[in-house]
Amino acid sequence: MHSALVAMGIGPGDEVITSVWTFCATANVIEHVGAKPVPVDVDSDTLNLCPNEVEKAITSSTRAIIPVHFAGHPAPLNELNSIAETHGLKILEDAAHGLGAHYEGTPIGGGQHPAAFSFYATKNLTTGEGGMLTGPDELIEATRVLTLHGMSREAWSRYSNSGSWRYDVASPGFKYNMTDVQAALGLVQLDKFDELQSRRHEVAHAYTQAFSDHPAFQTPVTRHGVGHAWHLYVLKLRPGALSIGRDEFFEELRARNIGASVHFIPLHQLSYYQNKYDLKPENFPIATRYADQVISLPMHGGLSRQDVTDVIEAVFSIVNKHQRLHVAA
Ligand SMILES: *Cc1c(COP(=O)(O)O)cnc(C)c1O
Repeated sequence: MHSALVAMGIGPGDEVITSVWTFCATANVIEHVGAKPVPVDVDSDTLNLCPNEVEKAITSSTRAIIPVHFAGHPAPLNELNSIAETHGLKILEDAAHGLGAHYEGTPIGGGQHPAAFSFYATKNLTTGEGGMLTGPDELIEATRVLTLHGMSREAWSRYSNSGSWRYDVASPGFKYNMTDVQAALGLVQLDKFDELQSRRHEVAHAYTQAFSDHPAFQTPVTRHGVGHAWHLYVLKLRPGALSIGRDEFFEELRARNIGASVHFIPLHQLSYYQNKYDLKPENFPIATRYADQVISLPMHGGLSRQDVTDVIEAVFSIVNKHQRLHVAA
């Protein structure tokens, strides 16, 4: 994402609109190019960037939008594309959760805009650390140079028989290349990817079957026309249904040896962004509300049938312990 923003010519004086509901990395890269991140609120069903909020945040300095395909559910790309076209903005997709997702038949990363994937250890496909950028040829060529010190393209082969020692540096680049060892891990992962993805779908289905009818929970929504990558399974706790809040729910899961997590602490609650841009909770009502209600259940391709049963049983044992009693009328 950093090298893509550099190649897109985003820098000081520019504003980049992104989702308040994301990992800090999305905003950090905007800071790294000297531009201003402008976080906006999300839609309550998917927790993805809300197109109306994007439109409201556009100023004469806005240059780009970074949507996040949160949890593996594609962001509303049609609406965002039309906003971007109307206002002459660029789009860079944060596709860290998006590998394996589809939007109206097109795989995330196969569309017209650059998309940045993460291969971090927790992601759907991993190389330990690292990632991948897809997008238009010209941008990919430019970032290829930036990711290896800014050395001209031919420098990649300078230690091979056909290579030359001569290279040029037209701009100062970074050391963002993937190592061969990481790539070898990735190739093995790639062979297993379809199998791991179908397991993620089965796990999501089992959780939704178990929890969708219960008044304490809101299960994840999949909008029409999208294919979910199921990077995360994010359960929303309905306020008032239980006598405990999310934090205690998390501790109760931990006490039952279930490794849950929270995605995300929204940007407006992180001190750097909160202080620097004076971000107020009332400007992000949806994110502020769900920040205290979401919990990510275990989700990966290695979960066994028994693992999933254990998670479901643990959740119901917490519910039974802390359910508010309803007095019959
Ligand atoms: C994981 C993640 C990233 C960062 O990926 P790294 O490979 O760890 O740098 C960026 N955005 C989102 C939404 C993520 O979840």
